Amino acid sequence: MKIFDAHCDVLYKMFLDSSIQFNESEKLEVTLIGMISGGIKVQCFAIFIPQSIHPEMRFNAALYMIELFYEKIILPFPKLRVITTQFDLENLAEDEMGAILTLEGCDAIGNDLVKLKTLLRLGVTSIGLTWNHSNYVADGILEERGAGLSAFGKKVVSVLNTTHTWCDVSHLSERGFWDVIEYSDYPVASHSNCYSLCPNPRNLTNDQIEALIDRNSVLGITFVPEFLTSRNEATVTDVLRHLEYVCSLGGEEHVGFGSDFDGTDGKLPKGLMNVRDYDHLMNELVKYYSSKQVENFMYRNFINRYPKK
Ligand SMILES: [Zn+2]
Repeated sequence: MKIFDAHCDVLYKMFLDSSIQFNESEKLEVTLIGMISGGIKVQCFAIFIPQSIHPEMRFNAALYMIELFYEKIILPFPKLRVITTQFDLENLAEDEMGAILTLEGCDAIGNDLVKLKTLLRLGVTSIGLTWNHSNYVADGILEERGAGLSAFGKKVVSVLNTTHTWCDVSHLSERGFWDVIEYSDYPVASHSNCYSLCPNPRNLTNDQIEALIDRNSVLGITFVPEFLTSRNEATVTDVLRHLEYVCSLGGEEHVGFGSDFDGTDGKLPKGLMNVRDYDHLMNELVKYYSSKQVENFMYRNFINRYPKK
């Protein structure tokens, strides 16, 4: 069975430590070998610019990470193909895997639409509007002001609409979320869980999840323990609880997974410590769901919503 993972932070780790190799590394939770043994068909790779980078250097940092993506993840491994269109997905050979480049937070583009368009031309096909804090586009979820889209933010969403690009609401403020529901043609939540089960601000309320379902969108259940449970540690069962909860809201065809591997300082649920462990999750899912349902959760629900160009 094929697996789609909507979020990992491998590029950020490689940005911090240039000695890391993607093929196999003890420092990575997602590696090429791991993807093969875990059965990953398509992996999203996020460009995340830390707040410690000076604002004027953030676009350069994004370009640097894109270069890392092509030089260290794509070029050395011919079986790993860059995905930028639905056509690319459909044309992956049996023994090939796909890699999607995503942006986690528009801090890298400042207030410059040319920078956004440049990133899109370089192969980025999903744009997270914010990380946890504010930028020129909108406020992140931890910004107390909680502002929605700015005038510039609306222009960004308009560019994403005309270029058929995913607009990712994970990390976005609640007002920003509702603005995206109103203005975006391709909303998506790459790595967010259910607020009703775990009241963390990063999670989505029932209304938000139902709005994503209404918009024929998809959300990726993430493995970050603090978004799964209020206890100190999480298990695979907690991942299933969140999945089942989205299903109970009518989201059986609107839910998948966005692990956040390599983005959690090693804090992960027992039995889901790296990309190889997707088979544990699969083994649990098949106990409770039909193979058709599992295929949808693992792969189809995201693939079916990847914007057609
Ligand atoms: Zn994140």
